[in-house]
Amino acid sequence: MIDFNLDSDAIATLAWNMPGRSQNVLNEESCNALCDAIERVVGDTDVKGILMTSEKADFIAGGDLEWLLTSDDPAVLFERVMRLNRALRKLETCGKPVAMALPGMTLGGGLEVALVGHYRVAANNPKARFGLPEVTLGLLPGGGGTQRLPRLIGIQKSLPLLLEGKRLSAADALKAGILHAVVDAGSEVAAAHAWLLTAIASGAPAQQPWDVKGFKVPGGAMASPAMQQVIMASNAMVRAKTYGNYPAPQHILSCVYEGMITDLDTALQTEARYFVQTVLTPEAKNMIRTLFFSMNEANKLAARPSGVPTQRYTKIGVIGAGMMGAGIAYVAAKAGLQVTLIDMAQEAGEKGKAYSQALIDKQLTRGQTTPDKAQALLDRITPTTDYALLDGAEIVIEAVFEDRALKAGVTQRSEAVIAADAIFASNTSTLPISGLAEASARPANFIGLHFFSPVDKMKLVEVIVGKQTSDATLARALDLVKALGMTPIVVNDARGFYTSRVFSTYVLEGMAMLAEGVSPALIDNAGLQAGMPVGPLALTDEVSCELIHKIDRQTKLDLGDAYVARPGHAVAAQMVALGRIGKKAGMGFYDYPQDAKKHLWSGLKQLYPLAAVQPTVQQLVERLTVVQAVDTARCMEEGVLRTARDADVGAILGWGFPPFLGGPLSMIHSIGVAAFVAQCERLAVQHGARFAPPALLLDMAAKEQTFYPKAH
Ligand code: NAD
Repeated sequence: MIDFNLDSDAIATLAWNMPGRSQNVLNEESCNALCDAIERVVGDTDVKGILMTSEKADFIAGGDLEWLLTSDDPAVLFERVMRLNRALRKLETCGKPVAMALPGMTLGGGLEVALVGHYRVAANNPKARFGLPEVTLGLLPGGGGTQRLPRLIGIQKSLPLLLEGKRLSAADALKAGILHAVVDAGSEVAAAHAWLLTAIASGAPAQQPWDVKGFKVPGGAMASPAMQQVIMASNAMVRAKTYGNYPAPQHILSCVYEGMITDLDTALQTEARYFVQTVLTPEAKNMIRTLFFSMNEANKLAARPSGVPTQRYTKIGVIGAGMMGAGIAYVAAKAGLQVTLIDMAQEAGEKGKAYSQALIDKQLTRGQTTPDKAQALLDRITPTTDYALLDGAEIVIEAVFEDRALKAGVTQRSEAVIAADAIFASNTSTLPISGLAEASARPANFIGLHFFSPVDKMKLVEVIVGKQTSDATLARALDLVKALGMTPIVVNDARGFYTSRVFSTYVLEGMAMLAEGVSPALIDNAGLQAGMPVGPLALTDEVSCELIHKIDRQTKLDLGDAYVARPGHAVAAQMVALGRIGKKAGMGFYDYPQDAKKHLWSGLKQLYPLAAVQPTVQQLVERLTVVQAVDTARCMEEGVLRTARDADVGAILGWGFPPFLGGPLSMIHSIGVAAFVAQCERLAVQHGARFAPPALLLDMAAKEQTFYPKAH
């Protein structure tokens, strides 16, 4: 677990080496081993200096979240962190010099352990990152991070690391004062050893700066007017950004505020108390479940049918070099694939390639890539009009206009060139995959790969399985998503698939509110307050009312008598009739003046007069989130979704569903299925059948079933 070696210089090396894991983590066994090792090196008079390092590529990746969730007992959790805190405190105050040699990633609990050293030297490893990312999972650093970091680098400098979970490169961590030195990779242990020899020779007992009498926090003490201002501003910023939905950053600020006016031992207890409180919040549980466990499952391709050999990709064809095709070409070339990028005219293909050039130019100016790598990436993209160049591609993805006949032609021309076992994928956002596959001579090899815009930033790919798509095609398509470094969810073919369908319930509910006479400013504020990235009306303007209206018309045509309108559709139709289709037209629910900020269109007041009694923000927030959750449950019932995990990951990554709720099904899980059913029934009476709970939920409530194990 932690290898021990005492050398002839009286330096004890503690090397982390957890068996059977690619990374070291803090869990029950490793914490026991660490506490034992600390007792040993502190108590052994033959040990004059202590060197801690890792035999793996990284130092310690952080706390083991599985372990964290094994108890809901505040006393157990408190004792767990305090035991670690006591051991670490013992190490840093034992008088013997302690050096940390850090080969790679040093995050979360890993950095907290490293901060206990009197000296920290890191390898110059481009992959290494240093930081306390706990907040991104709804947690706070519970191993002294909120106390040692501000004491080391100053309160103000530590806040972005603590509140935003910023991760620094070795060079930046050195600049920030977190590291003492960065050396060539492989020589960090020798550098730590050399420092220890000097420290031992000096004869002086090793001390942390904060244990030296008269210690002053760099940059100003908490009591100083400047720091009071910093905390007040940070508090306001956290509130403005999170609308009070996230307890973790609030608790982190409290830890810093309360902890920095006391001695470290008291401060560690304060932190431990906030840590326990935070771990037990539903927000932390939701974020850990979806953003850590479910995301890992998706990235490990949990949905991949077994028994299909892994497909290695060397060449991809992309047809349509517009917004989506250009983005797909870039991510594929970045992943090392050769890309044939086809459009109707050579200039259109070149324009698509220029998108990659623009992204690379930005990276070059920021020093994020090298000229050689940049050129190699560009050289992998071949823009052309010639389908013959698709020869040798293991997969072709079409991203031409949203037109069935056009897509059919493109499918047939591609299949005439590519190998019989190659995959043909459509990036359609609205056309059912099984219908598009009718144009294919090999429908078993036909699949939907729904990328999101902008492709280089949005990590989600919604993989759509058509009626005839084979398991082998699904497995191999998932291999591509992984090769591109993206996260897949797998859904079955249905109108709007999953993401577009449930996303639309949010914007349509906003429009329904408008039709009822709710103030438009209140509607969009409620969206933000709910934790969505953009209010529903502003978002409708972004995607354009025209698109929503067009999809609605098509749905009505396709479904005939089975078609059911939502109240928001009438608003979309009215806005389209007025030509106010959204941002791209410079007018929608908002006006978009050239030189000023957008503002709500004044004519809305005449079109939708305000009701005399306005609902509360909480009532609107409830509708805006429940409408998405209940439709997601319907997707489960209808078999559009295959797993709750895919539902939740897809919602957060795909359309920004509030992470603190963990996704729509995690939200139902936190509320409890029976309580959610009651909520839906109440809303259905007040606002209509779109809120009625589906049979699946009624059945689950009756049988006391849950979407996730009860303990999680
Ligand atoms: P776009 O209009 O930006 O690009 C389409 C490109 O296809 C154009 O460059 C056009 O010249 C080319 N094209 C048209 N017919 C062609 C043909 N026969 N052969 C070769 N090239 C042809 O469109 P887009 O926004 O990139 O969307 C493309 C597809 O992706 C659509 O099916 C759309 O529904 C889907 N999609 C779009 C988004 C989005 O946010 N825009 C998101 C997901 C999926």
